[in-house]
Amino acid sequence: MKTIGLIGGMSFDSTVEYYKIINTAVRNELGKNASAKILLHSMNFQEIVDLQFQGEWEKLGSIVCEAAIGLEKSGADFILICTNLMHKVVPIVEKKVSIPIIHIADVTSMEIKAQKIRKVALLGTIFTMEEDFYKNRIESHGIEVILPDKEDRQEVSRVIYEELCRSIIKEDSQAKYEEIIEKMIEKGAEGVILGCTEIPLLLEKSRIPLFNTTEIHALSAVKLALEKRKEAICN
Ligand code: GLU
Repeated sequence: MKTIGLIGGMSFDSTVEYYKIINTAVRNELGKNASAKILLHSMNFQEIVDLQFQGEWEKLGSIVCEAAIGLEKSGADFILICTNLMHKVVPIVEKKVSIPIIHIADVTSMEIKAQKIRKVALLGTIFTMEEDFYKNRIESHGIEVILPDKEDRQEVSRVIYEELCRSIIKEDSQAKYEEIIEKMIEKGAEGVILGCTEIPLLLEKSRIPLFNTTEIHALSAVKLALEKRKEAICN
């Protein structure tokens, strides 16, 4: 089994989900008391959020690089950055490590394509929705991405930072997200990317497919970690 390197704590609520999903899937696959080999580098999220809102992306890149280098040195075979937004610094990090970084937007795109969906709405932090790094990566897989209007984008992002990343789940916010999804369906969305790893804590179902990036990303790690074993079985 390969060792999975996780860069988490952004926020810890979603890192807990990664940990549970990965270990549960490994045990389901291997049976008995099996669990995953995981190395976790967990951040102080307040430091990260402050730098995000100050626009200090180079500094953020260095912080994630340092974590990634540490994980590689400690024996990780590949890395997952347990947040959609922090994939903004992947191009910087990739230059500093020789192990692969599993990109959350790539594995999510594969899942969207597997369901033959061509037009998706994207919900996430204001940065993930309004900047190009994430949208372009999804669109490079031939999927059209549409966004909520400005006011709704601000509300989606506010709920992430002020509620979900502080372990606060409110029915009002759930209703607001559902209302926003309805507007996106009217604009032609066939599915919704839950492009923030905490959103699945608020929203589980909708009348169109929801792409839970936390689950998709975590399960892609399990697949890769167990790949050799599967090959061995097939041979
Ligand atoms: N976990 C969130 C995401 O998936 C946001 C937290 C962050 O600022 O990184 O984008």
